[in-house]
Amino acid sequence: MQEFDVIIIGGGPAGYVAAIRGAQLGFSVACIETRQNARGKGALGGTCLNVGCIPSKSLLDSSHLYEKLQHESKAHGIEVDGARIDVGVMQKRKDKVVSMLTQGIASLFKKHGITWLEGTGALAGDGVVRISGPVQTSEVRGKHIVIATGSVPARLPFANVDNERICDSTGALAFDEVPERLGIIGAGVIGLELGSVWRRLGSAVTVLEASPDFLPAVDQAVAGEALKTLRKQGLTIRLNTRVESLAHDKESVTVTLGGEDGDSETLTFDRLIVAVGRAPNTEGLNAEGVGLALDGRGFVQVDAQFRTNLDGVFAVGDVIGGAMLAHKASEEGVALMEMLAGQKPALDHDRMPWVIYTWPEIAWVGKTTQTLEAEGRAFREGSFPFLASGRARAMNDTGGMVRVLACAKTDALLGVHIIGPNASELVSEAVLAMAFEGTAEDLARTIHAHPTLAETLHEAALAVDDRALHI
Ligand code: FAD
Ligand code: AMP
Repeated sequence: MQEFDVIIIGGGPAGYVAAIRGAQLGFSVACIETRQNARGKGALGGTCLNVGCIPSKSLLDSSHLYEKLQHESKAHGIEVDGARIDVGVMQKRKDKVVSMLTQGIASLFKKHGITWLEGTGALAGDGVVRISGPVQTSEVRGKHIVIATGSVPARLPFANVDNERICDSTGALAFDEVPERLGIIGAGVIGLELGSVWRRLGSAVTVLEASPDFLPAVDQAVAGEALKTLRKQGLTIRLNTRVESLAHDKESVTVTLGGEDGDSETLTFDRLIVAVGRAPNTEGLNAEGVGLALDGRGFVQVDAQFRTNLDGVFAVGDVIGGAMLAHKASEEGVALMEMLAGQKPALDHDRMPWVIYTWPEIAWVGKTTQTLEAEGRAFREGSFPFLASGRARAMNDTGGMVRVLACAKTDALLGVHIIGPNASELVSEAVLAMAFEGTAEDLARTIHAHPTLAETLHEAALAVDDRALHI
């Protein structure tokens, strides 16, 4: 039986990054991955690269360009007649982006001497993992075993996802034509991003959200601005609207919405996306067989060192819950390997950047206005709109704002919330400032290049002390 210092089950952002860091630290590492691509070839990269972050951003970028050509180029003096979308070409580009990146990980594995084992890994006890591969079954032994099996789309009991009429996020990334009427259950990150893609390409999109609140985890001022903007763009977003059942035939899907006093409403769509969150993936792992402890929602239970209840078995990434984000998963993988090597890495989950890749983008780090208020914490707030940014004006992209929240007593940065162009990139500066225990004054005293979108963050930090310069 082949033996390794570390065996990782799952080759997503948690698993493949842990494998690379483990190899850098001198461990012999094997990574088991069950995923195959459309051509039946093994594929590393997990949800993120294959059916998550990367393909969704590829479609968001394509559809954003299409929308800009249609509606914004004129203002720049660029006349574009007859812009048309070829969904087939757009999807091929996305597939190419995915395959280049997944192959890139295979090359990184080669470079670092990591053994990639294709198949489904199951815990067999005593450091042994059984692999059911495409051709044969084998066993490997590891001093340390890492579960990095990630997550899958959460299901609704009444929605039978066939990825024809009723789709999950994976199906919605692969539409071969633009549906005329598209319904989406769930106004979370995935629902809003996919809704934006297909709306920009021409679908009439209706997003149905059970909660009365829109993006409750987002700072309320930013969430309010986002709701207004997305609706103005043409997304129909219905809050307080719970989908209770579905019926479908070959042509369409009809959803029934819960109504008060028994008066229910039905809506009919050509396609429906179920985007109600993600669930931990422990299928095929033999969790029950070896007595691996899961919590009430099926996430693998770990302590602060990522140890499960089984000796020598650890878990990282989506499968342990918390923020279901690729960068959180990867950083956990890195931290675990460093711990196994005797180092003491620090991972600060409170300074995790979050991004929603609508346009304008939404990005934040730290506490929101509503959490600070609920905690009764005294804070000062500074906001600055992109409308007053020279660079945003030059780009013709002036929607949104930056909000900086700082401790009333110490001026320590508590949260930074952005809705605006390239918010996903801008938030990094705030994360770094907070990682260094920075204050609003530190941001205000930092020289920002002109003209840049980052000046909006600078001005918002100045506004905390009521001394913004350009408003
Ligand atoms: P995964 O990426 O799910 O990887 C786990 C891997 O383990 C899978 O490839 C699976 O095949 C494999 N596996 C499972 N069980 C076994 C087994 N028994 N044996 C062998 N292999 C196994 N996050 C962001 O940060 N930014 C984004 O923009 C973003 N966009 C997203 C868009 C969509 C549409 C979706 C669905 C998700 C998005 N996410 C995004 C979330 C992100 O994809 C996940 O947080 C991330 O992939 C989690 O990484 P992971 O390694 O824990 O799990
Ligand atoms: P997220 O977990 O961020 O992906 O968001 C998923 C969203 O789906 C949550 O805001 C839920 O409130 C919403 N949701 C879950 N079930 C239903 C349902 N039956 N009808 C409408 N919305 C739902």
